[in-house]
Amino acid sequence: MKDLRKFYINGEWVDPITPNDFPVLNPATEEQIAVISLGSAADVDRAVAAANAAFPAFSQTTKDDRLGLLADIRAAYVARYDEIADAVMQEMGAPRDLSWGAQAAVGKGHLDGVVEALKALQFDSTYLNGDQILREPIGVCGLITPWNWPVNQVVLKVLPALAAGCTMVLKPSELTPWDAMIYAEILHEAGVPAGVFNLVNGEGPVVGAAMSRHPDVQMMSFTGSTRAGTAIIKDAADTVKRVTLELGGKSPNLVFADTDVDEAVARGVRHCFQNTGQSCNAPTRMLVEASVYDRAVEVARETALAQKVGDPTQPGDHIGPLISQMHWDKVQGLIQAGIDEGARLIAGGTGKPDGLNAGYYCRPTVFADVTNDMTIAREEVFGPVLVMLRFETEEEAVRIANDTPYGLAAYVQTGDAARADRLVRALRAGDVHVNDSDISWGSPFGGYKMSGQGREGGLFGIEDFLEIKAVSRA
Ligand code: NAD
Repeated sequence: MKDLRKFYINGEWVDPITPNDFPVLNPATEEQIAVISLGSAADVDRAVAAANAAFPAFSQTTKDDRLGLLADIRAAYVARYDEIADAVMQEMGAPRDLSWGAQAAVGKGHLDGVVEALKALQFDSTYLNGDQILREPIGVCGLITPWNWPVNQVVLKVLPALAAGCTMVLKPSELTPWDAMIYAEILHEAGVPAGVFNLVNGEGPVVGAAMSRHPDVQMMSFTGSTRAGTAIIKDAADTVKRVTLELGGKSPNLVFADTDVDEAVARGVRHCFQNTGQSCNAPTRMLVEASVYDRAVEVARETALAQKVGDPTQPGDHIGPLISQMHWDKVQGLIQAGIDEGARLIAGGTGKPDGLNAGYYCRPTVFADVTNDMTIAREEVFGPVLVMLRFETEEEAVRIANDTPYGLAAYVQTGDAARADRLVRALRAGDVHVNDSDISWGSPFGGYKMSGQGREGGLFGIEDFLEIKAVSRA
């Protein structure tokens, strides 16, 4: 079992001020794989003081200095890639192919997006009216990340903050702290100056709240649930911090009859189940045109029944467990709500898949004949659970798609380019994917409505960490 009880503060691994052990479990086996410490407000004070002390020097580094640092971080990351992927596999339960092929790969891809953006960013420019405009790092930043794409969320905050010239304190999810602690070692090896990056583990309402309330923290960048995001806004209000939020989603996937329906539906089901459905932008509401609805339901059923579930350490395209017992219970409750509210269960259901008794495994589940007022159409399940709804017209599809408190992503499957053009403008979501496509490294990622505020990745991601100064001279 790994002893991960120290925090990284001011360039050193230090003991917590008050010991408070917390077990890290492997969700595939329910066995303890590591022990961390849960920090306190006093640990946050220490980390913020280090970040504050490092800010004057780091904020004055040049763009070239920081590009050099990012290149060194990339090299150090590549050298420890296998360790990162292995940590994600063990602490999060992401299967081997997903851990190596996607969960760890984003650490390089997002870095490349940040580097290209930093090269293009103008920190000193002349405005339309002739005044000078300076873009300057906002200050000490508090970064809070979730467990579902743990490396992704850490790098989407740490790298733009560094690129901007900010100093920071990171609190990773207490469920997946290990990969973030390896990342702290990578930053150390790459030569990030002492105090620029600090890491304190702990629980959200303690360490996260202390960061959000801290008078010396200028900005909170948060990814996680809408519940925690709203708590952070409230905690940050008294000190008027900037708050950026990447929250939940209930993203629609619109399937029209003018596409290859079998292909589009099968792809949509597999996408919904990827990472065991624990992705904020998962296409979890499949809206299907009435004329092909019955066929789509049949394809979705076959695809879900063919979805393998199993041991993350094995290669293959199977899905792993959910993150925790608490989350498994929540997902079971939502599947039961679907049954109770009269949706038609066509695959999966409550309970564990046959033969998988240890581990938080869940059955890949599809509900048909769902209406958009049902609990399973409105609430983010964050598990391998797809709901299917029927629509008659394009207008009705847009109305249902936008009838959600969320607005993170939307997916459109159509062979009609003019229809696609209309839909990308009508859908209220931070990114829209037409057919089998994905946004590129460096494109902005973030949500409309209760999916958040601000954008991560590339140029937009760095800009969130910058202040704007207008200079006039006589
Ligand atoms: P969570 O909100 O429970 O926890 C996320 C982080 O917030 C953890 O580090 C946790 O300790 C911390 N936290 C919890 N309460 C807090 C509080 N009161 N103050 C400060 N910090 C607090 O979410 P989770 O279960 O870890 O993650 C799943 C959620 O994250 C889902 O809703 C998912 O959609 C969302 N998510 C969004 C994106 C995105 O980019 N939009 C990406 C990944 C995950």
